[in-house]
Amino acid sequence: MTYQNYSLAQLQQIDAAHHLHPFTDSKELREAGSRVIAHAQGPYIYDTEGFELLDGMAGLWCVNVGYGRDELAEVAAQQMKELPYYNSFFKCSTPTPILLAKKLAELAPRHINQVFYGSSGSEANDTALRLVRHYWALEGKPEKNRIISRTMAYHGSTVAGTSLGGMAGMHSQLGGAVPNIVHVMMPYAYELKLPGESDHEFGLRAAKAVEDAILEAGADKVAAFIGEPIMGAGGVKIPPESYWPEVQRICRKHDVLLMLDEVITGYGRTGEWFAATTFGIEPDTITTAKALTSGYQPLSALLVGDRIANTLVEKGGEFYHGYTYSGHPVACAVALKNLEIIEREGLVERVKSDTGPYFAKALRERIAPHPLVGEVRSVGLMGAIEIVKEKATRERFSPEGSAAVTVRDHAIAAGLMMRATGDTMILSPPLIWTREIIDMACDRILKALDLAEADLRKA
Ligand SMILES: *Cc1c(COP(=O)(O)O)cnc(C)c1O
Repeated sequence: MTYQNYSLAQLQQIDAAHHLHPFTDSKELREAGSRVIAHAQGPYIYDTEGFELLDGMAGLWCVNVGYGRDELAEVAAQQMKELPYYNSFFKCSTPTPILLAKKLAELAPRHINQVFYGSSGSEANDTALRLVRHYWALEGKPEKNRIISRTMAYHGSTVAGTSLGGMAGMHSQLGGAVPNIVHVMMPYAYELKLPGESDHEFGLRAAKAVEDAILEAGADKVAAFIGEPIMGAGGVKIPPESYWPEVQRICRKHDVLLMLDEVITGYGRTGEWFAATTFGIEPDTITTAKALTSGYQPLSALLVGDRIANTLVEKGGEFYHGYTYSGHPVACAVALKNLEIIEREGLVERVKSDTGPYFAKALRERIAPHPLVGEVRSVGLMGAIEIVKEKATRERFSPEGSAAVTVRDHAIAAGLMMRATGDTMILSPPLIWTREIIDMACDRILKALDLAEADLRKA
């Protein structure tokens, strides 16, 4: 690339003048200037000035095999030379999406054997929403079309993704959501558990909110429930163990489909290929994207269970839906190679039996005792740190969200990229992190917490 011909100040000036950013206050960006990441290797990212950061977010929850994988670049180049693009509409196909579909069917839970491709998690959720409604229409129940989701869910940023999601700020700018989607409480024990209630009881109560919504509408009006196994962008909210089996029991009882959004949790993050396995449930659809290619190419795969897929085949008729880049040959070639790397290096197993437990212990023993920390939690290599003013009372700093941003800024200065959502710090590193890197990350988090505490208590 030729960015070396530009100074950082020039790049920032051009960026502010011409580039509108996602989830960004354009006015603030213009004042502050963007952080320009220029290259990356292994677990590290580097800005244009060569400053090195450990990437605690794997890009945006996606670079599971880490940076600098020449194999992925090579397979993409080879595929581009052979066949850069052909569509998969109108009974056409190309080899790589075919072979990737077979691979995904092997990796997915046994009752899932079909795949619908897109280029992003948002697109895949659009497909999922349309597909479950189409399913019920084919089954002769077109009025069974309501979808139940949760407050603070994140299902992407298209109109359907935003409507399915439960982010109040996003809804406020939507100007009319996709009709017939309702939101129930999230299984967030840290803030919503009642005094005296156990985690187990709280999980059952949060699941009961799903049943209440089904009963309120009438089961013959409810198509599906959608949820992230662990709410990601909403703050790595890990439900109690009782939650998912109970949600599944309720869905089965009322013949409501179960849609899992595994855009973050898919492909090893929790120490299983899919968090459906982690939580012991059998969803009808699994939305996947991000780590499917480790972010090296944009690609999503909606994994479709036999129940829905069989109806599509048996009843026939065209599903009027698809994207120009559904089954893109280059993206699918990269995904195949990425999955091969994950398997060859045993990354899923490593998260499950080594780095995941080590990460949990490090958070618990080193981070949790800090005076600013209300709670730590993690599954696999996905973790959260709650920032509080008062440990015992769980009182937060005001204004809301300011404390976590202070911690984040100190973490970045200390050489660790992490994210703040509300007053929760989030980590979702590449699955190549070793114990040594986890130790190094904890050193940097502690430094950031100390510096942030000095700032926050002074203010
Ligand atoms: C990121 C994300 C999406 C949206 O994926 P995009 O590729 O950004 O469209 C959907 N669901 C979840 C759970 C996500 O984390």
